[in-house]
Amino acid sequence: MKIKRIAHLGIAVKDLDAPKKFYAENLGLKLKGEEVVETQKVKVSFIQVGESKLELLLPTSADSAVAKFLENKGEGFHHLALEVDDIHAAVEELKAAGVRLIDETPREGAHGALVAFLHPKATFGLLVELCQYPD
Ligand code: ZN
Repeated sequence: MKIKRIAHLGIAVKDLDAPKKFYAENLGLKLKGEEVVETQKVKVSFIQVGESKLELLLPTSADSAVAKFLENKGEGFHHLALEVDDIHAAVEELKAAGVRLIDETPREGAHGALVAFLHPKATFGLLVELCQYPD
């Protein structure tokens, strides 16, 4: 598997406007799109930071995994996303190595990416998302 870069850091938030304003006005960063990811029941806002991004995650439903995260832990760091060149091969490689995954098959994420999450038990407590963007 080839990991190309840190694609983004996911941050769980209770509101998008205040953090967007903070990152834009106080840190001088640029907003890079916003969309609802139905499958994950979140609305996401991307903020560009060099070659990586911050992904603000706002739950759109009370039964969203991010809503449960906010309930238990409050706002803050949620996951690390690593861009890979071939997500299907990466997932197969991890499965063959016996690594515990949340997604055994890559699924659709924001920005037309394919994503697959590793289980935090396999990564020493970090929720890791692998993603591959369309060319
Ligand atoms: Zn993400």
